[in-house]
Amino acid sequence: TRAGLNLRGLIRTIPDYPKPGIMFRDITTLLADRAGLRAAIDELIWPFLGADIVHVVGIEARGFILGGAVAHELGLGFIPIRKKGKLPYKTIGQDYELEYGVDTVEIHADAIQPGDRVLLVDDLVATGGTADAAIDLIRKSGGEVVAACFIIDLPDLGGAARLRGKGVTVHTLVG
Ligand code: 5GP
Repeated sequence: TRAGLNLRGLIRTIPDYPKPGIMFRDITTLLADRAGLRAAIDELIWPFLGADIVHVVGIEARGFILGGAVAHELGLGFIPIRKKGKLPYKTIGQDYELEYGVDTVEIHADAIQPGDRVLLVDDLVATGGTADAAIDLIRKSGGEVVAACFIIDLPDLGGAARLRGKGVTVHTLVG
């Protein structure tokens, strides 16, 4: 980072979590480090200063932590995308494929106004399935996804390329 910090060094890798063969990138160590958290948020937001964005949209659950900080720094409001059944008001949903089965993400039906330019935030992009569903949800709501940003990209899984294929600018910090 421009602060001279090694973000990668603050992220911990946990082998065989949540199941055998998975190398889980654990960002709680980065979040707990005050210089690390500051640098991560600064690096996430700089391309979008002056980008005329109206909302930050974060994906449950780590996207809430980062998205809240990003929204605060950009001086914008925050909108949550949650797993099915968690939002209290009227929602719009989007199904997406998992390795086994299907999952659904939801957004409040009145959260985004037609034409709103939004920035999507999550901690990590792997296959891109979650962010892809979030983008479809924002577009169904009439919003325009200016970009999707993540701390971590797992490029071997092709998620960033998948999102770019949908016409979304992708900004990541650690490959
Ligand atoms: P995808 O849908 O791109 O395959 O998976 C990304 C979603 O799963 C994100 O919401 C992310 O938080 C979560 N995820 C998948 N693998 C990891 C991981 O290794 N570390 C963390 N922190 N989150 C992960």
